[in-house]
Amino acid sequence: MIIQKSTNPRISNFDPNNFSFGNVFIDHMIICEYENGKWGEVQLVPYGPIGFTPAMMGVNYGQACFEGMKAYKDKDGQVFLFRPEKNFERINKSAKRLAIPEISEEIFLEGLKALVDIDRDWIPYGEGTSLYLRPLLFATEEALKARISEKYMFAIVATPAKSYYTAPVSVKISDHYSRAASGGVGAAKAAGNYAASFYPTQLAIEEGYDQIIWTDDCSHEYFEESGTMNVFVRINDTIYTPSTSDKILDGVTRDSFIKLAEKRGINLVIGDVKVSDVIEAQKNGTLKEVWGVGTAVVTSIFEALGYQGERLELPKLSDEESFAVQLKNDLVNIQTNQAEDPFGWRVLVEENVYSI
Ligand SMILES: *Cc1c(COP(=O)(O)O)cnc(C)c1O
Repeated sequence: MIIQKSTNPRISNFDPNNFSFGNVFIDHMIICEYENGKWGEVQLVPYGPIGFTPAMMGVNYGQACFEGMKAYKDKDGQVFLFRPEKNFERINKSAKRLAIPEISEEIFLEGLKALVDIDRDWIPYGEGTSLYLRPLLFATEEALKARISEKYMFAIVATPAKSYYTAPVSVKISDHYSRAASGGVGAAKAAGNYAASFYPTQLAIEEGYDQIIWTDDCSHEYFEESGTMNVFVRINDTIYTPSTSDKILDGVTRDSFIKLAEKRGINLVIGDVKVSDVIEAQKNGTLKEVWGVGTAVVTSIFEALGYQGERLELPKLSDEESFAVQLKNDLVNIQTNQAEDPFGWRVLVEENVYSI
C-alpha cells in the first residue's frame, strides 16, 4: 500500500456534536486504478478532488456502482466494521453485472481497514453514531465509445454519521413507476438505480409521502423494496419479507434482521408479499407494522401507506410491542459491541497496522 499522509488535517475543526451528515469528509481516502488489464497498488491519500474530463466514460454511460457500510466505536475506543465481507462480495457482484473488473479482497478490505485506522479519531462515539464508508467503482477511460471501459478507479471515501433517530414516515405504494425490471440491474448497487428513483420519489413527496414502496414492474401486485431499503411487513405476529432476486438488492441489514428474528423465535416468511394481502390486513386490523431496513438508518418505521389515492394509517406500537424496534436494538447492540456477537459479525480494526 502506498501511504501519503495529509499535511493539512482538518480533524481539529471537526465538532462531533455539530456536523451535517454527508458533507464532511475525513482527512484521507483510498484510491486504486485499473489499467492495462490489471488493478494497481492501493493508495491511501489525502481526501480531495481528482481530475477527469467530461469525456470520462463513467459519467457518460453510467458504468458505476458503490457500497454503503459503517465503522462503529465502542466505549473503550475500539473500532469495528460490520460484516465487511458481505459488502466485498456485493461490490463484485455489482461490478460483474456492470462489466467492471472485480477487485481483490485485499484491495477492498485492506484499503478499508487502513483508512478507518488512520482516521479513527473522526469516528464519533455515542448512541447511533458511526463513520459511514462509501466504497465505489467507476469507469475512468476518456473516450466517447459506447462500450466497456478499459480504465477504472476504486475509491473509498467516508463521512461521520450522526444518531439515526428518524421520525416515522409515510410511504406510497407504487402503481406506476418501477425501480427494477426482470433481467435488469436491480440487484446491483448501480449508481443509475438511484438516478432512476429520484423523479418518482419527488412525485410521491409532492403527494405528501416521504418515500415509495416499489412494486414489481410487471403487475405492481408485489412488494419489492422501500426507497433504498429492503422491506418487512408484520401481520399478526408473523413477519414477511420478499425473497431476493435480480430485482431486489440483497441487503446486509435485511439478512441480519432475518437471522436475529430467527434467533428470537419470531415467525418469519421469506417470499411473495402481495400488495392486496397487506391492504386487506390493514383494513381488518391485523397489519401491525411495516418498516424498511438498510445500513444508513438501520430501520425506518412507517406510519402510513398510500395506495391508489387512499392514505391507510398503521398502528402506533410501543417499543416493547414493536418487532422492528426489538430487532433494530439487537442489531445495533452487536454492531457497537454492547452485546455478544453469536454470529461473528464484528470485525475489529487493529490500531497502527500500517506504518504511517
Ligand atoms: C443499499 C441498499 C439496500 C440496503 O442494503 P444494506 O446492505 O442493508 O445497507 C437496500 N436496497 C437498495 C436498493 C440499496 O441500494
